[in-house]
Amino acid sequence: MAKTLLGVDKLVNFIDGEWMEGSEYAPVINPATGEEVVQVPLSDSSSVDEAVNVAKKAQKEWAMVPAPQRAEVLYEVGRIMKERKEHLAKLLTLENGKVLEEARGEVQEGIDMAFYMAGEGRRLFGQTTNAELKDKFAMSVRAPIGVVGIITPWNFPIAIATWKSFPAIISGNAVIWKPATETPIMAYELAKIYEEAGLQKGVLNVVYGKGSTVGEAMVHHDGIRVISFTGSNETGSHIAGECGKQLKKVSLELGGKNAVIVMDDADINLAVEGIVWSAFGTSGQRCTACSRVIVHEDVKEELEQRLLAEMEKLTIGNGLDESVKVGPIINEAGMEKIKTYIEIGKEEGATLLAGGYELKEGDLDKGHYFAPTLFTDATRDMRIAQEEIFGPVVSLIPVKSFEEAIDVNNSVAYGLSSSIFTKDANRVFKAQRDLDTGIVYVNAGTTGAEIHLPFGGTKGTGNGHRDSGVQALDVFTEWKAVYVDYSGKLQRAQIDVE
Ligand code: NDP
Repeated sequence: MAKTLLGVDKLVNFIDGEWMEGSEYAPVINPATGEEVVQVPLSDSSSVDEAVNVAKKAQKEWAMVPAPQRAEVLYEVGRIMKERKEHLAKLLTLENGKVLEEARGEVQEGIDMAFYMAGEGRRLFGQTTNAELKDKFAMSVRAPIGVVGIITPWNFPIAIATWKSFPAIISGNAVIWKPATETPIMAYELAKIYEEAGLQKGVLNVVYGKGSTVGEAMVHHDGIRVISFTGSNETGSHIAGECGKQLKKVSLELGGKNAVIVMDDADINLAVEGIVWSAFGTSGQRCTACSRVIVHEDVKEELEQRLLAEMEKLTIGNGLDESVKVGPIINEAGMEKIKTYIEIGKEEGATLLAGGYELKEGDLDKGHYFAPTLFTDATRDMRIAQEEIFGPVVSLIPVKSFEEAIDVNNSVAYGLSSSIFTKDANRVFKAQRDLDTGIVYVNAGTTGAEIHLPFGGTKGTGNGHRDSGVQALDVFTEWKAVYVDYSGKLQRAQIDVE
């Protein structure tokens, strides 16, 4: 199927508008079946050098194209993505494993982002303001930065790339993109779409390869002036350290330990739906996945029972089967990490109510599948309640009050997403003020970000930047302050002010 959809059995780098073969390759494995989908080049730093050289040249020309004309390319990218939505979704499921319905949703996110960022071509607003001196004009404008590097993870192989490359390109930058080695197909497909949409050569370059070679080369290349990264905290903080030494701008979107709070007045059925979707969608491999449920003790038992009943209905298997709700885990390393946390949870004294094991029956044996898992009676300090597991594992933490719920929510090192189920308007407004996360949901789960709002988090989730929304432009532009003095004489700021 992959061969028919892709038309090739080896991917190629995309540099200066040319498709370039690699010298070494690695297999890309379908996590649902263990079968090889395609081969991906393992490039080295010379490909990064080559890409940066052409990107530098291309960027100078691209920045001179009026932004509304740059936008025309993104409108066309969006149109082609829309036309090719089903094709892209199937390939996404083949390389990543997420169920088709979610793969379609992820592609749609990219389409939405294309049209939203194309609209920025006629905005990219700066500010005009009053100068403190007579006959003087003041304004601030956004300027492109130059060549930017984007490094993307495997869990949202197309959406995250659109959150980063579209704002970079509309702002007049050129991009070097290193996708995750597990999921390179979306990069190949998106590069083809950019080419068909008529993007000027060299503005978007895809270099495949390992983080330890291609990623490091990008981070250390003095021709790349911004690194925008999504992935693990470990890699993110390493990259930030290296960029810091070079005074290079770096935008990080890292992990989460997101919670759903269920208060005693909540609509329990709705809360259960929100938790199941947020905890087990994408097999829990989302940075916004719900992995803690902070529940008022008065409704704890009822919630447990309803959750168990809903979890039993979840069908697990190959995401290409439309009836499947939970797909595979990305790879063996991901599986081992989840199993380790199950043991940690048991040792810490949490009660395992459901799941906790790998699924091996029948065809499931060929891929990596883990049973949706529910711990209860966890406490806020347990490692299963503090650390990112990145799998279909959720822990219930009982609390006695609203105030305690907020406190438990905020007691982790991360701050990406949080949610509260309550019918009390006072609690709603207090919660949105006091929950220390970049995203807050009321009466909805922890996932479901819309692309025209800022995406990112507080504390260990990042370093203050945001993907998507108009705020994404701040990562890929410099603010330039412009003063025009039309008095015809020297006027000194702060001194010649009457
Ligand atoms: P990484 O953070 O290591 O990988 C993310 C991206 O960074 C990949 O493209 C990777 O390349 C690249 N990379 C790796 N090392 C470097 C480096 N030294 N310099 C530059 N780029 C580098 O995450 P993993 O995929 O290894 O996943 C491990 C864990 O991270 C998961 O279990 C999960 O907990 C967390 N994670 C969180 C995500 C989130 O959305 N918050 C997303 C993905 C992972 P390559 O493909 O070659 O490895």
